[in-house]
Amino acid sequence: MTQTSPPRRDRIAFFYSIRFRLVLWFTAILALVLAAFSAFVYYNQSQAIRGDALFQMERRMDLVIGSLPASKGPSDLLGDDDIFLLLGSDGGVLASQGTASEQEALDIARSAEPNTTDHFSSREGPVTSWVAERGSSETHYIFVARGVVIDGQPAAAILGSPFDPYGLYESLLLTLLAGSLLTLAVAIGGGLWLADRAMRPVQAITQAAREISETDLSRRLNLKSRDELGELARTFDAMLDRLEAAFARQRQFVADASHELRTPLTIVNLEADRALAGRRTPQDYQQALGTIRSENQYMTNLVTDLLVLARMDSGQKITRKESLDLGELAVDAVERLLGLAERNGIELETGALPEAPLEGDRQMLLQMVSNLVENGIKYAGGAGRSVRVETGADPDFVWLTVADNGPGIASEHLQHLFDRFYQVDKARTRGEDAASGSGLGLSIVQSIARLHGGEVRVESAPGEGTVFQVRFPSD
Ligand code: ADP
Repeated sequence: MTQTSPPRRDRIAFFYSIRFRLVLWFTAILALVLAAFSAFVYYNQSQAIRGDALFQMERRMDLVIGSLPASKGPSDLLGDDDIFLLLGSDGGVLASQGTASEQEALDIARSAEPNTTDHFSSREGPVTSWVAERGSSETHYIFVARGVVIDGQPAAAILGSPFDPYGLYESLLLTLLAGSLLTLAVAIGGGLWLADRAMRPVQAITQAAREISETDLSRRLNLKSRDELGELARTFDAMLDRLEAAFARQRQFVADASHELRTPLTIVNLEADRALAGRRTPQDYQQALGTIRSENQYMTNLVTDLLVLARMDSGQKITRKESLDLGELAVDAVERLLGLAERNGIELETGALPEAPLEGDRQMLLQMVSNLVENGIKYAGGAGRSVRVETGADPDFVWLTVADNGPGIASEHLQHLFDRFYQVDKARTRGEDAASGSGLGLSIVQSIARLHGGEVRVESAPGEGTVFQVRFPSD
């Protein structure tokens, strides 16, 4: 197995980096634009150079033709490198001057033929021009041809001169090429620098994310910039906030659950030790066993509640969905709890229970209603009080209320009421009836309501009783 060495890995990583790809694309596009621009400039300039050369040649041709036919050649008007030819209508060379050899003159005449034949027909034909390489040298020549009449015969005058003697084409090409390359080099350098700068926050985010471990979620990026990456970092920080809070809740939950189990376990231990310590009367044993059973019941209830919550926390979906009626569920719950109400001297009654249709898990919803009614019975404050259950259907939602005329709940407790293990009065709750609550009842109510798309509200004031309402959107 071969191991990739770190520098090589860095290099590979670089090629896959956004920085590199960004610069690559940017450079490619720029190169394309520069090529198009250079082509445009080159074409325009070459047209201009050629047009200019042609204009000069025409003017010279005017002069040359003006001097004909005196010597059948305007030798004094020609430059050192110029060529002048006079072609007869048969294509033969009538006169040749300048640097061209006889053979070359013939070649030019031949190559000129397709360009010049038209001119013989007219006395003073239009100018034709072309650029060609001269056979021997590599220099380009510009030729102009024009129809003339020599001695009453139509002929064609051809004047050739070095094209672009100052190398304008070449320097233009060089300038464009050098300019483009320089621009590209600057763009690549600048692009890398810019991309590096732009990507630095990403590296910071990556680094921070690497350093954040499950046990230390307190780190934040705190990136101050207002750009997209700042937004990303803020989102990231907000996510960490939520995660940290969730972990804290989880830790608290486990701590609370352990704590909640420790008390009954201790009691069971103590009772058992005491019963085993020596000879006891049957009544003593009975009392000890009674306490143990009651504590055991409490723990069973607690563990059942914890299980319900754990299932709902793990994103459990409603599997046994059926069409239900909140009113019927209310009747069921009331019937189940009538005995408990009687024992507590509480009058448990139902108000109007019109049809309030709802889709959901019967078992869960029944537990939800039961928890609320049971709380009413437990906390209403004893004999003479009453708990009333009502349901209804509004256009947008169906609802169920459980109202009691008990002592009510002080406002500072209301916001925590649905927190897990929250109990308003721990001492009172865990009185002689050890099988009573552990502070999970209402959070289960809330979880079940939410699982069904609903919500729980509570209204209460000390001395005025408490009203819990659960609402579910109607289908
Ligand atoms: P528990 O399982 O201990 O009953 P809950 O989550 O059901 O816990 O309730 C939390 C706290 O809310 C209880 O300790 C109790 O003090 C208070 N509470 C709930 N229902 C009522 C009510 N109907 N009247 C007064 N207090 C209530």
